[in-house]
Amino acid sequence: MRFELASVPGTAERPNEDWASLALPASGQGGSLVVLDGVTPPRGGDGCVHGVPWFTSHLGGALLELSGSHRDMPLAEVLALSIRRTADTHRESCDLSHVRTPQATVVAVRWDGESVEHLVLSDSTLLLESPNGVVHAVLDDRLDRVPREVLRSVSATDALRNQDGGFFTAAADPGVAARAVTGTTPRADVRAVAALTDGASRWTDLFAEGSWADLMGLLSREGPHGLVGRVRALETADALRGGGTRWKIHDDATAVYAELRDPVALPGT
Ligand SMILES: [Zn+2]
Repeated sequence: MRFELASVPGTAERPNEDWASLALPASGQGGSLVVLDGVTPPRGGDGCVHGVPWFTSHLGGALLELSGSHRDMPLAEVLALSIRRTADTHRESCDLSHVRTPQATVVAVRWDGESVEHLVLSDSTLLLESPNGVVHAVLDDRLDRVPREVLRSVSATDALRNQDGGFFTAAADPGVAARAVTGTTPRADVRAVAALTDGASRWTDLFAEGSWADLMGLLSREGPHGLVGRVRALETADALRGGGTRWKIHDDATAVYAELRDPVALPGT
Protein backbone atom coordinates (compact mmCIF):
# COMPACT_ATOMS: atom_id res chain seq x y z
CA MET A 1 0.00 0.00 0.00
CA ARG A 2 1.08 3.57 -0.68
CA PHE A 3 -0.27 6.73 0.92
CA GLU A 4 0.71 10.29 0.10
CA LEU A 5 -0.72 13.74 0.70
CA ALA A 6 0.05 17.36 -0.07
CA SER A 7 -1.66 20.55 1.08
CA VAL A 8 -0.44 23.92 -0.16
CA PRO A 9 -1.95 27.34 0.73
CA GLY A 10 -3.21 29.55 -2.10
CA THR A 11 -1.14 32.48 -0.89
CA ALA A 12 1.44 33.00 1.81
CA GLU A 13 -0.64 35.82 3.31
CA ARG A 14 -3.62 33.66 4.31
CA PRO A 15 -3.77 30.51 6.42
CA ASN A 16 -4.46 27.28 4.56
CA GLU A 17 -8.12 26.48 5.21
CA ASP A 18 -7.91 22.95 3.79
CA TRP A 19 -7.43 20.07 6.20
CA ALA A 20 -6.34 16.52 5.39
CA SER A 21 -5.43 13.36 7.24
CA LEU A 22 -4.96 9.64 6.84
CA ALA A 23 -5.26 7.03 9.59
CA LEU A 24 -3.99 3.49 9.32
CA PRO A 25 -4.87 1.18 12.21
CA ALA A 26 -1.97 -0.88 13.44
CA SER A 27 -3.89 -4.09 12.84
CA GLY A 28 -5.89 -5.39 9.95
CA GLN A 29 -6.49 -4.04 6.48
CA GLY A 30 -8.41 -0.91 7.47
CA GLY A 31 -7.89 2.80 7.32
CA SER A 32 -9.59 6.09 6.67
CA LEU A 33 -8.93 9.44 5.11
CA VAL A 34 -10.59 12.82 5.55
CA VAL A 35 -10.21 15.95 3.40
CA LEU A 36 -11.96 19.24 4.18
CA ASP A 37 -11.98 22.56 2.34
CA GLY A 38 -12.94 25.37 4.69
CA VAL A 39 -15.20 27.98 3.11
CA THR A 40 -13.60 31.42 3.25
CA PRO A 41 -16.20 33.86 4.63
CA PRO A 42 -16.73 36.98 2.54
CA ARG A 43 -16.34 40.34 4.24
CA GLY A 44 -19.02 40.74 6.87
CA GLY A 45 -17.90 37.97 9.18
CA ASP A 46 -19.24 34.61 10.15
CA GLY A 47 -20.40 35.04 13.75
CA CYS A 48 -17.46 32.96 15.06
CA VAL A 49 -14.56 34.18 17.18
CA HIS A 50 -12.38 31.19 16.22
CA GLY A 51 -11.96 31.25 12.45
CA VAL A 52 -12.10 28.67 9.69
CA PRO A 53 -8.78 26.84 10.43
CA TRP A 54 -9.99 26.25 14.01
CA PHE A 55 -13.26 24.87 12.65
CA THR A 56 -11.71 22.55 10.07
CA SER A 57 -9.21 21.17 12.57
CA HIS A 58 -12.00 20.37 15.04
CA LEU A 59 -14.36 18.90 12.44
CA GLY A 60 -11.61 16.98 10.68
CA GLY A 61 -10.22 15.65 13.94
CA ALA A 62 -13.66 14.46 15.02
CA LEU A 63 -14.32 12.80 11.64
CA LEU A 64 -11.04 10.93 11.70
CA GLU A 65 -11.42 9.80 15.30
CA LEU A 66 -15.09 8.79 15.07
CA SER A 67 -14.73 7.01 11.71
CA GLY A 68 -12.07 4.82 13.30
CA SER A 69 -13.61 4.30 16.73
CA HIS A 70 -17.18 3.73 15.46
CA ARG A 71 -16.45 1.40 12.58
CA ASP A 72 -20.02 0.09 12.43
CA MET A 73 -21.49 3.59 12.22
CA PRO A 74 -22.28 4.74 8.65
CA LEU A 75 -20.14 7.68 7.49
CA ALA A 76 -23.17 9.98 7.26
CA GLU A 77 -23.83 9.36 10.97
CA VAL A 78 -20.14 9.88 11.72
CA LEU A 79 -20.37 13.24 9.95
CA ALA A 80 -23.54 14.21 11.85
CA LEU A 81 -21.88 13.35 15.16
CA SER A 82 -18.71 15.25 14.19
CA ILE A 83 -20.70 18.36 13.24
CA ARG A 84 -22.58 18.20 16.55
CA ARG A 85 -19.39 17.71 18.56
CA THR A 86 -17.72 20.67 16.82
CA ALA A 87 -20.78 22.89 17.22
CA ASP A 88 -20.96 22.09 20.92
CA THR A 89 -17.36 23.27 21.29
CA HIS A 90 -18.26 26.85 20.34
CA ARG A 91 -22.00 27.08 20.87
CA GLU A 92 -21.52 29.25 23.96
CA SER A 93 -19.16 31.77 22.40
CA CYS A 94 -20.35 32.07 18.81
CA ASP A 95 -23.52 32.67 16.78
CA LEU A 96 -24.01 29.29 15.13
CA SER A 97 -27.23 30.48 13.46
CA HIS A 98 -25.18 32.87 11.28
CA VAL A 99 -25.61 31.79 7.63
CA ARG A 100 -21.82 31.95 7.21
CA THR A 101 -20.94 30.15 10.44
CA PRO A 102 -17.65 28.32 9.66
CA GLN A 103 -18.27 25.53 7.17
CA ALA A 104 -16.40 23.11 4.97
CA THR A 105 -16.68 20.66 2.11
CA VAL A 106 -16.08 17.03 3.14
CA VAL A 107 -14.58 13.91 1.57
CA ALA A 108 -14.33 10.89 3.85
CA VAL A 109 -13.28 7.36 2.90
CA ARG A 110 -13.03 4.33 5.18
CA TRP A 111 -11.94 0.86 4.18
CA ASP A 112 -11.45 -2.57 5.66
CA GLY A 113 -10.73 -5.99 4.16
CA GLU A 114 -14.22 -6.19 2.66
CA SER A 115 -15.31 -2.80 1.44
CA VAL A 116 -14.53 0.86 0.78
CA GLU A 117 -17.09 3.38 2.08
CA HIS A 118 -17.21 6.97 0.87
CA LEU A 119 -18.94 10.26 1.64
CA VAL A 120 -18.77 13.50 -0.37
CA LEU A 121 -20.43 16.79 0.57
CA SER A 122 -20.06 19.91 -1.59
CA ASP A 123 -17.46 20.55 -4.26
CA SER A 124 -14.44 18.49 -3.32
CA THR A 125 -13.77 15.44 -5.52
CA LEU A 126 -13.33 11.75 -4.77
CA LEU A 127 -11.85 9.41 -7.38
CA LEU A 128 -12.12 5.62 -7.17
CA GLU A 129 -9.91 3.58 -9.49
CA SER A 130 -10.75 -0.03 -10.27
CA PRO A 131 -8.07 -2.70 -10.77
CA ASN A 132 -8.55 -2.45 -14.56
CA GLY A 133 -7.91 1.30 -14.53
CA VAL A 134 -11.46 2.65 -14.82
CA VAL A 135 -11.79 5.82 -12.71
CA HIS A 136 -15.13 6.78 -11.19
CA ALA A 137 -15.53 10.35 -9.93
CA VAL A 138 -17.87 10.80 -6.96
CA LEU A 139 -19.16 14.37 -7.04
CA ASP A 140 -21.77 16.38 -5.17
CA ASP A 141 -22.55 18.78 -8.02
CA ARG A 142 -25.16 20.97 -6.30
CA LEU A 143 -22.79 23.95 -6.09
CA ASP A 144 -21.85 23.50 -9.78
CA ARG A 145 -25.51 23.82 -10.71
CA VAL A 146 -25.70 27.29 -9.16
CA PRO A 147 -25.14 29.85 -11.97
CA ARG A 148 -21.79 31.68 -11.81
CA GLU A 149 -23.46 35.09 -11.74
CA VAL A 150 -25.39 34.06 -8.61
CA LEU A 151 -22.14 33.01 -6.92
CA ARG A 152 -20.68 36.47 -7.56
CA SER A 153 -23.29 37.92 -5.18
CA VAL A 154 -22.69 37.31 -1.47
CA SER A 155 -26.35 37.77 -0.57
CA ALA A 156 -27.62 35.57 -3.43
CA THR A 157 -25.12 32.85 -2.47
CA ASP A 158 -26.11 33.10 1.19
CA ALA A 159 -29.75 32.60 0.18
CA LEU A 160 -28.81 29.18 -1.29
CA ARG A 161 -26.32 28.16 1.43
CA ASN A 162 -27.56 25.06 3.22
CA GLN A 163 -31.06 25.58 1.83
CA ASP A 164 -33.31 23.30 -0.23
CA GLY A 165 -32.66 23.98 -3.90
CA GLY A 166 -29.20 25.32 -3.08
CA PHE A 167 -26.04 23.63 -1.90
CA PHE A 168 -24.88 22.06 1.35
CA THR A 169 -21.73 22.24 3.43
CA ALA A 170 -20.79 20.89 6.85
CA ALA A 171 -21.49 23.80 9.20
CA ALA A 172 -23.33 23.66 12.53
CA ASP A 173 -26.42 21.60 11.58
CA PRO A 174 -25.91 17.81 11.91
CA GLY A 175 -28.95 17.28 9.66
CA VAL A 176 -26.92 18.27 6.60
CA ALA A 177 -25.07 14.93 6.78
CA ALA A 178 -28.12 13.23 5.27
CA ARG A 179 -27.54 15.32 2.11
CA ALA A 180 -24.08 13.90 1.48
CA VAL A 181 -23.36 11.58 -1.46
CA THR A 182 -22.47 8.21 0.04
CA GLY A 183 -21.74 4.70 -1.18
CA THR A 184 -19.90 1.44 -0.62
CA THR A 185 -17.70 -0.49 -3.07
CA PRO A 186 -16.22 -3.97 -2.61
CA ARG A 187 -12.57 -3.61 -1.60
CA ALA A 188 -11.53 -5.95 -4.42
CA ASP A 189 -12.94 -3.43 -6.93
CA VAL A 190 -10.82 -0.51 -5.69
CA ARG A 191 -7.14 -0.26 -6.54
CA ALA A 192 -6.64 3.36 -5.50
CA VAL A 193 -8.56 6.38 -4.19
CA ALA A 194 -7.84 10.09 -4.38
CA ALA A 195 -9.48 13.00 -2.56
CA LEU A 196 -9.01 16.51 -3.93
CA THR A 197 -10.11 19.96 -2.86
CA ASP A 198 -11.21 22.22 -5.72
CA GLY A 199 -7.83 23.96 -5.71
CA ALA A 200 -6.27 20.65 -6.82
CA SER A 201 -9.08 19.23 -8.99
CA ARG A 202 -8.66 22.32 -11.23
CA TRP A 203 -6.15 20.33 -13.28
CA THR A 204 -9.19 18.51 -14.76
CA ASP A 205 -12.34 20.51 -14.01
CA LEU A 206 -11.04 24.03 -14.74
CA PHE A 207 -7.95 23.71 -16.93
CA ALA A 208 -9.05 20.51 -18.75
CA GLU A 209 -5.49 19.16 -18.85
CA GLY A 210 -6.82 15.62 -18.84
CA SER A 211 -9.63 13.33 -17.68
CA TRP A 212 -10.10 12.12 -14.13
CA ALA A 213 -8.32 8.92 -15.21
CA ASP A 214 -5.42 11.03 -16.49
CA LEU A 215 -5.31 12.84 -13.14
CA MET A 216 -5.16 9.47 -11.33
CA GLY A 217 -2.28 8.48 -13.59
CA LEU A 218 -0.50 11.74 -12.75
CA LEU A 219 -0.96 11.07 -9.03
CA SER A 220 0.43 7.58 -9.46
CA ARG A 221 3.51 8.85 -11.32
CA GLU A 222 4.25 12.15 -9.58
CA GLY A 223 2.27 12.05 -6.33
CA PRO A 224 0.12 14.84 -4.82
CA HIS A 225 3.03 17.31 -4.77
CA GLY A 226 3.53 16.79 -8.48
CA LEU A 227 -0.16 17.46 -9.15
CA VAL A 228 -0.24 20.65 -7.07
CA GLY A 229 2.98 21.90 -8.68
CA ARG A 230 1.44 21.42 -12.14
CA VAL A 231 -1.73 23.23 -11.06
CA ARG A 232 0.33 26.17 -9.80
CA ALA A 233 2.20 26.37 -13.11
CA LEU A 234 -1.09 26.34 -15.06
CA GLU A 235 -2.53 29.08 -12.83
CA THR A 236 0.50 31.30 -13.28
CA ALA A 237 0.51 30.82 -17.06
CA ASP A 238 -3.23 31.51 -17.17
CA ALA A 239 -2.86 34.71 -15.13
CA LEU A 240 -0.05 35.92 -17.40
CA ARG A 241 -2.34 35.38 -20.40
CA GLY A 242 -4.96 37.56 -18.68
CA GLY A 243 -7.31 34.73 -17.83
CA GLY A 244 -8.87 36.90 -15.17
CA THR A 245 -12.28 35.32 -14.99
CA ARG A 246 -11.45 33.25 -11.91
CA TRP A 247 -12.12 34.39 -8.40
CA LYS A 248 -8.73 33.39 -7.11
CA ILE A 249 -5.64 32.84 -9.19
CA HIS A 250 -4.40 30.34 -6.60
CA ASP A 251 -6.64 28.47 -4.16
CA ASP A 252 -5.64 26.25 -1.25
CA ALA A 253 -4.88 22.93 -2.93
CA THR A 254 -4.96 19.54 -1.22
CA ALA A 255 -4.66 16.04 -2.64
CA VAL A 256 -4.58 12.69 -0.85
CA TYR A 257 -3.65 9.60 -2.84
CA ALA A 258 -4.01 6.08 -1.47
CA GLU A 259 -3.15 2.88 -3.33
CA LEU A 260 -4.98 0.07 -1.58
CA ARG A 261 -3.65 -2.60 -3.96
CA ASP A 262 -0.52 -2.94 -6.02
CA PRO A 263 -0.96 -2.21 -9.72
CA VAL A 264 -1.60 -5.35 -11.73
CA ALA A 265 1.03 -5.75 -14.42
CA LEU A 266 -0.75 -5.85 -17.75
CA PRO A 267 0.58 -8.19 -20.45
CA GLY A 268 3.22 -6.46 -22.49
CA THR A 269 3.87 -3.69 -19.95
ZN1 LIG B 1 -16.49 29.83 16.99
